[in-house]
Amino acid sequence: MRIGIFGGTFDPPHEGHVKAAKASVFGLGLDKLLVIPTAEPPHKNLAAGGADAQSRLEMTRIAFKSVEKCLVSDMEIERGGRSYTVDTLDALKAEYPGADLCLLMGTDMFLSIEGWRDYEKIMSEAVLAPFARAEGDMEGINAFADRLWEKYKARTVPVNIGPIEISSTKIRRALPHRGGFEHLDNEVYKYILSHGLYGARPDLDWLREDVKTHMDLDRIPHMVGCENMAIKLCLKWGGKVGNIREAAIIHDITKHLSLDEQLKLCEKYDIIPDNAEIENPKLLHAITGAALAKALYNSPEEVCEAIRWHTTGKADMSLAEKIVYMADYTEKNRTFEGVKELRMLSSRDLDGAMRMGLEMSLNELRDKGIVPHPRTQQALEWFIEHPEG
Ligand code: ATP
Repeated sequence: MRIGIFGGTFDPPHEGHVKAAKASVFGLGLDKLLVIPTAEPPHKNLAAGGADAQSRLEMTRIAFKSVEKCLVSDMEIERGGRSYTVDTLDALKAEYPGADLCLLMGTDMFLSIEGWRDYEKIMSEAVLAPFARAEGDMEGINAFADRLWEKYKARTVPVNIGPIEISSTKIRRALPHRGGFEHLDNEVYKYILSHGLYGARPDLDWLREDVKTHMDLDRIPHMVGCENMAIKLCLKWGGKVGNIREAAIIHDITKHLSLDEQLKLCEKYDIIPDNAEIENPKLLHAITGAALAKALYNSPEEVCEAIRWHTTGKADMSLAEKIVYMADYTEKNRTFEGVKELRMLSSRDLDGAMRMGLEMSLNELRDKGIVPHPRTQQALEWFIEHPEG
């Protein structure tokens, strides 16, 4: 039996890791590939702001699930402390007596092997299987393999991969700036966002696609229209455009849910709706939408609040809240009487448009025999009392 061993911090696991694993299973003819996240790497410190061991393990399980013959092992995390390869080899030799063990590693690890604890023992017990991390690495790998053979009689079998020049460090740095996701498995990215890891913020194109999977198809044009209108209003009035677009994209994520489903979400996220909200369940989606924004995408407060108040409005709204409210109300798919005037006013006088919009909303509800939420009346009064915002 030939077993590959692929250790790493996997903080987070990325497409470079997965590509190397797939190429190794094929290139080395492995019967089994053990992917082993370290507890603490011996050669470097865990990154500040990195993920905890359980999260790395979970993400590694998700990332490698498409790799044939692969098993993600928690043996080093369970052992704890610095994870020395020599100890892992000892444990695996005991578990799989007689198996051929192949140690998979990228260029950086391979070239530093003489710095590993008991490296000569490692070389006598396992085949080294290095792969390139960057174009042009192979020359150095081959030369070093020859040197290790001459010096230690180390068996090295390089694996050919089309290298992907990416590292977990680069991804961790990009994630807070809405980047990095293109090198991650989609489910790993979702895990990172929903667990609030690395300060990650969602890429907006990715977010739009993900939110679409939650909503009814016929609501998508409204979501897109709302985001576009929000961008127009940001061009005029400023604000943190990334946050405002994020709120506009997410704002109706739970709108299609039944009252029962809304109430279940309220329970799940410890939300206690007020009586007026329970009597008019259409209002619940703003609260549950804000809760999901936090739970699924780790949206910051400004985004959650803009979603929270997009239906009723409230007294003393922030710029982001006003823009999302107005974008939702006046985006290009809206056709009610007066919408053109309201749309034009919103780019000349945002607070004036808020007054007009809140008043229109109150009148429309009353005409339909619906008692408006008192918050909307309070919002209107606030805007009347504060004409300068
Ligand atoms: P960091 O940037 O945090 O140091 P990393 O991207 O180097 O992380 P590790 O988890 O430390 O990832 O690496 C585990 C193993 O995967 C190592 O052998 C490393 O050389 C290899 N590796 C990492 N990135 C790539 C890549 N892009 N292509 C091929 N191998 C890689």
